[in-house]
Amino acid sequence: MSREPIPARISTSSKVLVERQFLVTVTEPVAIAIVGVGKIARDQHLPSIASNARFRLAATASRHGGVDGVENFETIDTLLSARSDVQAVALCQPPQVRFEAAAKAIRAGRHVLLEKPPGATIAEVETLVAMARSQGVSLFATWHSRFATGVEPTREWLKGKTVRRVAVTWKEDVRRWHPGQAWIWEPGGLGVFDPGINALSIVTAILPPVHVTRATLEFPEGRDAPIAAQLTFAGESGFSATADFDWRQTGPQTWDIEVETDEGRLVLSKGGAEMLVDGKAVLADSDQEYAGIYRRFAELIEAGESDIDLSPLVHVADAFMLGRRSVVEPFED
Ligand code: NAP
Repeated sequence: MSREPIPARISTSSKVLVERQFLVTVTEPVAIAIVGVGKIARDQHLPSIASNARFRLAATASRHGGVDGVENFETIDTLLSARSDVQAVALCQPPQVRFEAAAKAIRAGRHVLLEKPPGATIAEVETLVAMARSQGVSLFATWHSRFATGVEPTREWLKGKTVRRVAVTWKEDVRRWHPGQAWIWEPGGLGVFDPGINALSIVTAILPPVHVTRATLEFPEGRDAPIAAQLTFAGESGFSATADFDWRQTGPQTWDIEVETDEGRLVLSKGGAEMLVDGKAVLADSDQEYAGIYRRFAELIEAGESDIDLSPLVHVADAFMLGRRSVVEPFED
């Protein structure tokens, strides 16, 4: 890989910060390490890296995990000091420990991919943005749901139409999707906003800006994170939006975004994998999200850019700030 500094040019929209720092010509796969080899690393990151010729899994850092045939380190510190050939890291640990790892990797001059949510607070991610800028590395705050098949076609379909109402229903069974994950109930773990932020990442990608006007948060007795939340949004564009997040849904799972417009009703279903217009399926595809993430990360590294959009995390923070809290029955794993 050759790297040639070019003048800094920062282009900022209200949502997305993309920074160009270095022009990078990639001549061979980027050597990448995964930090935190747990559920999402095994389910998605490893297969996506394996099937993307622009990356090569060079190492891992995981206290209990690892990948056969790949050198594993107990900590990111030992990885960074022992393996100067590792050019990028994908941070797949829970959000509460992501800042420290990201800061170390950036200081060591490595490109950084952040799993969602990009951090436990907004300010810490802003610090990472400044660090990445001064180090000239790419920082990518990923929102995997934005790469679901129906998201970009939905954004296109909505262009020029008047949105009247938006209803998000994101209801799943926490025991099925997060068995034994203690961190998710700890401060910074986000509780039901861990999946809910995926819906918010789609809403913020397909619709004009809105802000939280009301929220109710249901905390199981003795837990530090909510098991359910209801949000109301408003915005300059004039439509109302609601979001209903619940982790107590057994049976069929629901990940739907309904958008009523002056020209019909669109439903983005199954977390964005299916798109229906006036009840008719117009698009359905299998899971492509993480393949899209790694394509984008390669583009960012090659272009010397970063991509950080904090708007989904801002909505969650606002819900915690504005939300009325109630205590509901205890939750046991
Ligand atoms: P996980 O399996 O519970 O944790 C991932 C790995 O992080 C663990 O195997 C562990 O590896 C390391 N880790 C856990 N706690 C740690 C701590 N306190 N300090 C340092 N390392 C720690 O979690 P996950 O489900 O993969 O989720 C990780 C991130 O991906 C979360 O931000 C989540 O929102 C996001 N995500 C998850 C899913 C999903 O379906 N699970 C989907 C999309 C995104 P070692 O013990 O080996 O170090």
